[in-house]
Amino acid sequence: MIEADLVVVGISELATPQGSSPRLGPQLGRLHVLQSAAIACDGERIVFVGTEQELAQRVQLRPGGARVDGAGGTALPGFVDAHTHLPFAGWRDDEFIERLGGASYSEIAARGGGILRTVSQTRAASEEQLAQAVQTRLRQLLALGTTTVEAKSGYGLTLADELKQLRALRSAAGPRTPEIVPTFLGAHTVPAEYRGRREAYIRLLIDEALPRVAEERLAEYADAFVDAQAFSAGEARQVLQAAKGLGLGLRLHADQLADDGAAQLAAELGAASADHLEHVSQPGIEALARAGTAAVLLPAAAFFLKAEQRAPARSLIQAGVPLVVATDFNPGTAPLESMGAALGLACLTAGLSVDEAITAGTLNAACALGRGSDVGTIEPGKRADFVIHRIPNRNHLVYRFGVPRIGQVFARGQLAYAC
Ligand SMILES: [Zn+2]
Repeated sequence: MIEADLVVVGISELATPQGSSPRLGPQLGRLHVLQSAAIACDGERIVFVGTEQELAQRVQLRPGGARVDGAGGTALPGFVDAHTHLPFAGWRDDEFIERLGGASYSEIAARGGGILRTVSQTRAASEEQLAQAVQTRLRQLLALGTTTVEAKSGYGLTLADELKQLRALRSAAGPRTPEIVPTFLGAHTVPAEYRGRREAYIRLLIDEALPRVAEERLAEYADAFVDAQAFSAGEARQVLQAAKGLGLGLRLHADQLADDGAAQLAAELGAASADHLEHVSQPGIEALARAGTAAVLLPAAAFFLKAEQRAPARSLIQAGVPLVVATDFNPGTAPLESMGAALGLACLTAGLSVDEAITAGTLNAACALGRGSDVGTIEPGKRADFVIHRIPNRNHLVYRFGVPRIGQVFARGQLAYAC
């Protein structure tokens, strides 16, 4: 008999991708589906997945163990959000109202709004204030079914303020929060005080910031924003090569507003992911496929910016690029932290099927964060991070778009949230 300290029964449908490597091409939408399912966990790990009938034959609940009723809901792996800008201070709802009134994002940025406004608000916040804001957001993420979240700095843009953002992430994390995967995004934009001497800012990143981040193990990845308003591909290459030399993994904000050749750069550097990709070229897609670099689509940002161009999801899938969907949660271009909403938008605006979107927001996202063998599926041996949605089957996740229907969230084998 398998011994367990937690069993979850009353699951009308369980749907999960399988394995620990990214699902590609036609495999992206292949889920393992069970009806009348049960899950058993012991400690932090899943020890059994099967039908309720099999559970009765094979699993023994330890004395004092818990039996939880899924109340006819649908079990999916906990969402893995592979792209957020979590540790920021201050919202920009007033800019949103201006944009609804017709102002463009670049007009707002030109008069001191946009990213630089969040930079000044984040610089003004203490590490404790930032950590508190992150903690509140982590609770909200958990309530929305996210159990692993990547989180970028990039609103400090001084050595001290970038370190402050990353330290706030570290101190906000706890045993009952989603796991945080921290990323250093000092190359988000050139801060105002370095206007006209951008080389000096790049030297600051390479000579001072990256070595400190690596030494204090404050980030697993480094990221850069390649864009006409941010950094050229050549500048990003310098920063990311230095990061790679220090043992950090790489990610890249790539080809969001124009084809900057950034997908090719991500592939050339062996980056874990190239993110956005609304304007990626066919050679860029092929380069990503050859390198095995994941494409992280952020459909909520494109939707929220009312962008006409969508990332070519189907071409990426057909080329064999590992496809991921994430929120891009940030106060300017994607102020929503719901992976359910991001997956819905991936289906409704970028042409994914529900099953493809589920894999893109769980297993493939976990693989893009270097956690494919640990999370992203509901299988024995994986960490017990899964969610019971109050829906009769997985189609309702997108069909009844926009409203989270979370019943219970299990993180590390514990009931971490219940509604
Ligand atoms: Zn971003």
